[in-house]
Amino acid sequence: MTAASLKRGWCPGALRPMQTGDGLLVRLRLTAGRFTPIVARLVAEASARHGNGEIDLSQRANLQLRGVTEATLAPLTTMLDAAGLIDRDERSEAARNVIASPASDLDATALIDAADWAARIEKLLVDIAAARPLPAKFGVLVDDGGAWPLAASHADIRLEASVTSGQLNFAVALAGTRQTAVQIGKFSHDDTLPLLKQLCTALPSFAGGARPAGREDVDLWLSAAGLAVQTAEPVNRSASEAGLPGATILRPPFGRLSHRDLSGLAECLDNETQAVFRLTTSKALIVGPLQGDERQRLDAYATRAGFLSVGDPLERVLACVGAPACGNATTDTRTDAIRLAGLLPAGQTLHVSGCAKGCATRGRSDLVLVGHGGLYKLGRACKASDFPADGVRMSLTEVERTVATNGFWHA
Ligand code: SF4
Repeated sequence: MTAASLKRGWCPGALRPMQTGDGLLVRLRLTAGRFTPIVARLVAEASARHGNGEIDLSQRANLQLRGVTEATLAPLTTMLDAAGLIDRDERSEAARNVIASPASDLDATALIDAADWAARIEKLLVDIAAARPLPAKFGVLVDDGGAWPLAASHADIRLEASVTSGQLNFAVALAGTRQTAVQIGKFSHDDTLPLLKQLCTALPSFAGGARPAGREDVDLWLSAAGLAVQTAEPVNRSASEAGLPGATILRPPFGRLSHRDLSGLAECLDNETQAVFRLTTSKALIVGPLQGDERQRLDAYATRAGFLSVGDPLERVLACVGAPACGNATTDTRTDAIRLAGLLPAGQTLHVSGCAKGCATRGRSDLVLVGHGGLYKLGRACKASDFPADGVRMSLTEVERTVATNGFWHA
């Protein structure tokens, strides 16, 4: 780790921790977001010994240890390295930025094994990055075409398994979510990894180290790679976070776990368990395949720990870590979000952001609060970045009064 890697704004890893308001944040990139109960216990112990005991599930399906200090970073790295959780160097770690469908092996509708593809894509990216670094935060997404949704996640390259005329293939799209990415065509399994290599190798010749953004960049990218758009048809299928047979879905509020909860969940599993923990982009944990009483024990633990049950209003609430964990924040976003959740009408979404950066979501929400100077700006049907710098600010009590006013939601 270099001194420069402690700067704010870096895409953090285990070898490149990021300074935050509550210490260093160490992000573990686990292939396909999967980890065994043994790793769960180890990470829980590492968090308790070398961090502040708090662990985040990230929107990129990574685990993040919070509150690491300059003094505890070296022993933490040694502990993680001994468990095989540390990459050989920073460049390899940064390159392994792949989101995959979390439960292909549990989902009868999945068309491919996304974990296997994620491992192959990671290897390809690491090999390419060894010759020349990929743009910062450059990422690939692989969707198994099954029941679990990855539509809202942004990726520079999206590979979505699909079936056309009875043939399995990948719909490939660039620079966006499923809705916004530029579709460049459908490719056979054999052709997809060479295509990925072609696209990644072409990046430095036009992007100058930046990630492609928008249609114009994508056209330059394709031209540099010697490719043309074959089709502009978006992938059109629905998926939802419904239950998966033989598994349970656990939703800690705001994706925040204590080290006790992570080890406690691992303790719910049998010694000979087949279950694996899987991180989702909605900051949930899928655990499966389960046997015997494992599901009952996990669900009972989740209830005791205060995890969200189906239909909890907090499922429709997003909030960044806020103060004091983030140095940019002046409000305790999550505590305030919990206060406001009970005022949300059915179906409405809330985003409480500590600042205009909008780390919890870049998308629109029905009600948006953005912290500034210990107060909030309040908006409807917008994004955290939409507010003018000099907008009206109000206290949380004033926000509560406004939101509870008759007609506020119908104005
Ligand atoms: S959105 Fe929240 S977590 Fe992100 S920088 Fe702003 S205050 Fe910090």
